Formats: sequence, C-alpha cells, structure tokens
Amino acid sequence: MKITEYINTLRENVAVAREQGKTVVLIPTMGFLHSGHLSMVEAVRKQDEDYEKFYIVMSIFVNPLQFGPNEDYDRYPRNLVRDTRLAQEAGVDLLFTPSVQEMYPDGPSLTRVNVAKVTDDLCGSHRPGHFEGVATVVSKLFNIVLPDFAYFGQKDYQQYVVIKQMVKDLNIPVQVLLAPTVREEDGLAMSSRNAYLRPEERRQAPVLYRSLQEAAQLIAGGERDVNVVREKIRQRITNETNGKIEYIEIRRADNLAKIERISGAVVIALAVYFGSTRLIDNILVEV
Ligand code: AMP
Repeated sequence: MKITEYINTLRENVAVAREQGKTVVLIPTMGFLHSGHLSMVEAVRKQDEDYEKFYIVMSIFVNPLQFGPNEDYDRYPRNLVRDTRLAQEAGVDLLFTPSVQEMYPDGPSLTRVNVAKVTDDLCGSHRPGHFEGVATVVSKLFNIVLPDFAYFGQKDYQQYVVIKQMVKDLNIPVQVLLAPTVREEDGLAMSSRNAYLRPEERRQAPVLYRSLQEAAQLIAGGERDVNVVREKIRQRITNETNGKIEYIEIRRADNLAKIERISGAVVIALAVYFGSTRLIDNILVEV
C-alpha cells in the first residue's frame, strides 16, 4: 500500500494504475477506521472476482468545512498509525491523508457546492453548513482522484442521497454505490463517534437500532401511518434511555421527501444525543 498526503503524488499513482487498465475506486473517510469503513473495501472485492483489476483509494481527511463552530472538529478521534495498518490489511492500494493546508491552501475554499432540497431537513436543518462542507470536499476528492466508483455508507444515508444528487446534477462521471451499515454485535451502528460514549450511554445506545427494527416490524404488520410509527420509536427511546431525540423521520428513500402514508421504499432515520454525543441511524424499508 502506498500512502501520501500530496495531491500530485496521488494523481501520479492513480495515472499509473489507469495506464495498467485498472478501475479506480474511491472510499472517502474521516479515519479512526472501523469495520464499517473496511467493509467498503470488502465490497469492492465482491464486485468482481478479479480483485486485481481494482485500484482502491481510501482518503482520510477530517474536513473542517463540514463541522459547525460548536461541533467536535478539534476532538474528533484520530489515529493515523492504526488506520494505516488497518487500511493495508484490508487491501487498500493508496491511502490519501491530506493536511488541511493541502486541501484548502488559501483557507476555506471560496467555491462551495450546495445541494438544495435534500439537505433541507433531517441532519441538514440541525447541522447548518454540514452538507455544503461534505458536498464541497467530496467534489474536490472526485476531481483529485477521478474515480470510476465511489462508496458511501448507509449509516449516513442523507449524505448518500446528497452525493447522488450532486453527481447527477453536475454530471460527474462517477458511479456512487451504497454500502450497508455495519453494526456492533448488539446492533449499535459502528461510528468513530461511539468512542465518545460513556459506559452507561454505550449500554443504552443499541435501543436506537432496536426501535428502528420494531418500527420495521410494525410496518410489515400493516401499519402505514408515519406518525404512529414515529411515535412508537419515540416512546421506546424515551422509555429505555436518557437519550435526547433530535429527530425521528420517515421519508421517501430516493429523495427524502415528506410522506404521511408509508408506501414504496422509505427510510426511517433518527438522530439522538447521548450526553454530548450525537448518534444517527436509519433503516430502509420497502412495502
Ligand atoms: P466517516 O469516517 O464517519 O466520515 O465515514 C466514512 C464513510 O464510511 C461514509 O461513507 C460513511 O457512511 C461510512 N460509514 C461510517 N460508518 C459506517 C458503518 N457503520 N457502516 C457502513 N458504512 C459506514
């Protein structure tokens, strides 16, 4: 595995891989790697028996542009030594670890990418500027790496919808793929931010996924009223945890549009604070 923090070096290496006829795959991350991140490397392997035809670029960049002023940019967990080992073991070909200076040499970029509508609510309304920061850095990464494919995790489902929309609207020649959420044994969605949880919070956190599963069962049993299902989730979380609910929403899965009745493909998404730690989770349901 090659590792570089420089855009030029990355471009040289990707160009060589292309000359060798390889398919370039990008997996953007903020590091502090866990099985959720590494499952995307595994997913590339499953895409084709001929694993050698892929050139897998993983980026690790804690992007200041996507953090609000009162968010956790400064304390976001980082461990590049461990990440390098895990990426190598997983089969990453090139690890791109740019500095803030390398990505934003003149300070925060003057050009921003704004994806309207799909960023209006859910995490968008609670984290102003977040998706602008995400869309801007991901378009930079797309332009730097010029990948054929890019993987995003279902854990951040709204982010996936935003990137899909951006790629479509701006005709970016990359195929965006969704990787399923990887969970701890007790159901908690893996997240670098889980490291912030106190023992008692960690113990309660799996209730989020259980409440989502219960909602899915309710829908499978015939319930179609969005408010009934949301209320059921709310009750379970308030009864069984000290978590503070930020939102519980059920939306059309393709464009996150509001609905009153459940039909077709929907996403049930929530954000809950445990102490100062904000956890998100979601499931996709089809009726
Ligand atoms: P992050 O490092 O949290 O910015 O995540 C980088 C990428 O990994 C994003 O596309 C995430 O959606 C994805 N990801 C994070 N956690 C998980 C998980 N538990 N399962 C699957 N993908 C994940």
